[in-house]
Amino acid sequence: MNDYITALTDGFEGAARWTWNSILFDVPWYTNYFWGLIVISILVWILEMTFPWRKEQSIFRKDFWLDAFYMFFNFFIFAIFISGFYNLLEVAFTNLGVTSKSLAIVNPISWPQWLQLLVFFILLDFVQWFTHVCLHKFPVLWQFHKIHHSVKEMGFAAHLRYHWMENILYKPLKTLGVMFLGGFEPEQAYIVHFAAIAIGHLNHANIKLTWGPLKYILNNPVMHLYHHSYTLPEGRYGVNFGISLSLWDYLFKTNYIPEQSGTIPLGFPGDEKIPKSFWKQLVYGFKSKQKKI
Ligand SMILES: [Zn+2]
Ligand SMILES: [Zn+2]
Repeated sequence: MNDYITALTDGFEGAARWTWNSILFDVPWYTNYFWGLIVISILVWILEMTFPWRKEQSIFRKDFWLDAFYMFFNFFIFAIFISGFYNLLEVAFTNLGVTSKSLAIVNPISWPQWLQLLVFFILLDFVQWFTHVCLHKFPVLWQFHKIHHSVKEMGFAAHLRYHWMENILYKPLKTLGVMFLGGFEPEQAYIVHFAAIAIGHLNHANIKLTWGPLKYILNNPVMHLYHHSYTLPEGRYGVNFGISLSLWDYLFKTNYIPEQSGTIPLGFPGDEKIPKSFWKQLVYGFKSKQKKI
């Protein structure tokens, strides 16, 4: 029992200390997600101001500050809160004899570093694509994912507007993915994490960027805007589910880009019922008597 309490408090304290040290620049610069997130956000924001796709959209678009707060909430505040529980689960699984080694199907340690990073990136991206499809397909999960789709004007900060339950829903599949690699995280996994933040910010940015022929591999703002479209093609529960890569949507035929004006209405039928305040959004999706939209 003591093991579990220690795991809980250690995880919580460790994450809080790491975040605090990051704010004070007291961690290696390349692992500083706090300032890294701020630098990436400012760079993408400058790109939005310099090359706006929807020229009439304000640089402080609708809900800009709400989304800016979500960025720090999901990345740091909630991460600190939950890290103790994740630590506790890890101890519980180890005590049950389930370790990442027991699920390994490959052994990446002997691979060249670039290949380790590439496989890690592609695997995590696929797992997230699949989770994202589930968030749309199953009504009980869609209740939480609606918060991300309540964005009415698109800009980079919308990337991290999502319900905290999504952190929890993505986690098991991500962990499982890494377990197939024997729990292996490449030494330079931070490159993958920073690339994912930058691509995610760009996908939501007010910039018309399609990557040319690379659009079949890399997700982009044009493709992702259609993911947020108010109206969907008949009989579909979603399109363009890609996170960093668009590849999965082309492979599984969930791609859809009918035009590129950038001016389509965003949201979903019934989005006016989503609470406007952060605190109400925090508890959204749990009430069973809530009218399903
Ligand atoms: Zn979605
Ligand atoms: Zn999005």
